[in-house]
Amino acid sequence: MALLELKNVNSYYGNIHAARDISMTVEEGEIVTLIGSNGAGKTTTLRSIHGILPPRDGKIIFKGEEIQGLPSHTMISRGIAQSPEGRKIFARMTVLENLEMGAYHRRDRLDDDIARVYELFPRLKERAKQEAGTMSGGEQQMLAIGRALMSRPTLLLLDEPSMGLAPVLVERIFQIIEEINRQGTTILLVEQNANVALEIASRGYVLESGSVVNANSAEKLREDPKVREAYLGEI
Ligand code: ATP
Repeated sequence: MALLELKNVNSYYGNIHAARDISMTVEEGEIVTLIGSNGAGKTTTLRSIHGILPPRDGKIIFKGEEIQGLPSHTMISRGIAQSPEGRKIFARMTVLENLEMGAYHRRDRLDDDIARVYELFPRLKERAKQEAGTMSGGEQQMLAIGRALMSRPTLLLLDEPSMGLAPVLVERIFQIIEEINRQGTTILLVEQNANVALEIASRGYVLESGSVVNANSAEKLREDPKVREAYLGEI
């Protein structure tokens, strides 16, 4: 049984049909990537999974149970956390307060989780008392991922972690994503930067105009002439 399965999911913004019959699976332990150009429906798919944009029809099955339409806070307590596009950190709160917000549904001690996030992102430890909004884009990205980890998710949804980052930082963030996965968290990664995404993922789905147009192992997708031309910047 897959950890997560989408069956013919359709989601709309008003009349705009932004996710069309999306079917996909994520197995426990995997890194799976959704690639596609601007407006292809990647963010819409993540928002549908996380209950921010409840699907109009279709099924979303997590750990064997249907979860479509449940609110986001329920998703978090069931083990799905999201690091959203544009980061959406709490700018006026400190780094530490942001991390604590990621675990707001828990009543137990957070020390171990905070220590784990600081180990993955030493920069956040240095900046623990700083207002989050004053940090660089890369640091805010780290904080958004760290905050998502605070709920101890089984499945982590990452929306464009490379967005707006300098190339060296992109590499660093992706190494950390791999490390998070090695530590046992399954990852669904949305990326416009297909090059780096297909390097760390085991499988990928290509979205175009709201539909899945290709699904394969990351290796096969990297070799696919259409993918190379459209998403890997090759002719
Ligand atoms: P991006 O990298 O730009 O986020 P994406 O693949 O994630 O691209 P989506 O954000 O899922 O694409 O957008 C899919 C479609 O839904 C697009 O046509 C977009 O214009 C539309 N859309 C997205 N958000 C909204 C919204 N809040 N209201 C109306 N239409 C929206």
